[in-house]
Amino acid sequence: MKTESILVIGANGQIGSVLVEYLRGIYGDNKVIASDLRVNPDRQDYFEVLDATDGTALQQIVKRHKITQIYHLAAILSAKGEQDPLNTWQINMQTYFNVLEVAREHGVKKIFYPSSIAVFGAHVHGSADQFSYLDPSTVYGISKAAGENWSNYYFTRYGMDIRSLRYPGIISYQSMPGGGTTDYAVDIYHKAVKGEHFDCFLKEDATLPMIYMSDALDATVRLMEAPSEKISVRTGYNLAGMSFSPKEIYESIRKVIPAFEISYNPDYRQAIAESWPSEIDDSEARKDWGWRPAYSLDKMTEEMIQELRKKYE
Ligand code: NAD
Repeated sequence: MKTESILVIGANGQIGSVLVEYLRGIYGDNKVIASDLRVNPDRQDYFEVLDATDGTALQQIVKRHKITQIYHLAAILSAKGEQDPLNTWQINMQTYFNVLEVAREHGVKKIFYPSSIAVFGAHVHGSADQFSYLDPSTVYGISKAAGENWSNYYFTRYGMDIRSLRYPGIISYQSMPGGGTTDYAVDIYHKAVKGEHFDCFLKEDATLPMIYMSDALDATVRLMEAPSEKISVRTGYNLAGMSFSPKEIYESIRKVIPAFEISYNPDYRQAIAESWPSEIDDSEARKDWGWRPAYSLDKMTEEMIQELRKKYE
């Protein structure tokens, strides 16, 4: 077992609830402290209630558990964030400043900051390179681009070891998404397995970059475990799994569930999707720390359906 003491902030969310278990498998149960706004009734061990906008409360937890690494997952996501832009900015930035400052003052050795493909905007057409122009269209994307620049600032100015991935939409059977533009790609599997009709909030050809949870977890820990000298990008690494449209995921599901039906009723999230790239070039991540995704669309579909069938049976 490795001798780290890890704090996961925002641990009850789509990624956190799966990542905590994954990290505990690597570092040991008592070495991974989960925290969120409310206790998770299913997982109360090694859990701290924390509102990360409260810097003093965060500091007390970091001191009490002698935290050496922080995974800062708490955020208001892209679609939900548009409902109250200034509050989204306030929460996303204040929580991150608290993490950066507590880490600086208490010698936390490593920070993981999840960025997003939402940092890209209208000036990136088709595929986004690592160093493509960033002109995000949502307050969420603006906060992630700012967070990336602050990560780089704390690295350059204070030598802090902060690592970051620009996650595409994450697809998981273990947990539900929390208000992003790519949420449909999880919901569609639940509807298919339950034998229900699916009404999609994006157009049939809205191709977006996505990744299966298993690949996202692998990338996250691979990045965090890479030797420091291998990390050449201190803003946020582009990360790609697969790209597909609603029509393509529907067709992939129909190979397993032929009776499944879909309709398309695009809403405000279509405009957000249109402002994002359809492909991500992640060659820097591949070159620097050996990233390779393991899942294709059809392989993911098979596993999602198999796992959700167990859940609904
Ligand atoms: P989520 O919305 O499912 O979970 C976020 C968690 O943060 C929630 O449990 C929420 O209660 C908690 N939280 C909110 N405000 C908090 C606060 N002030 N203090 C403490 N906790 C607070 O999000 P997720 O999908 O698990 O995403 C985790 C991170 O990854 C986010 O930063 C998100 O921007 C990023 N990300 C996610 C995706 C995706 O597809 N899920 C894609 C790109 C980036």
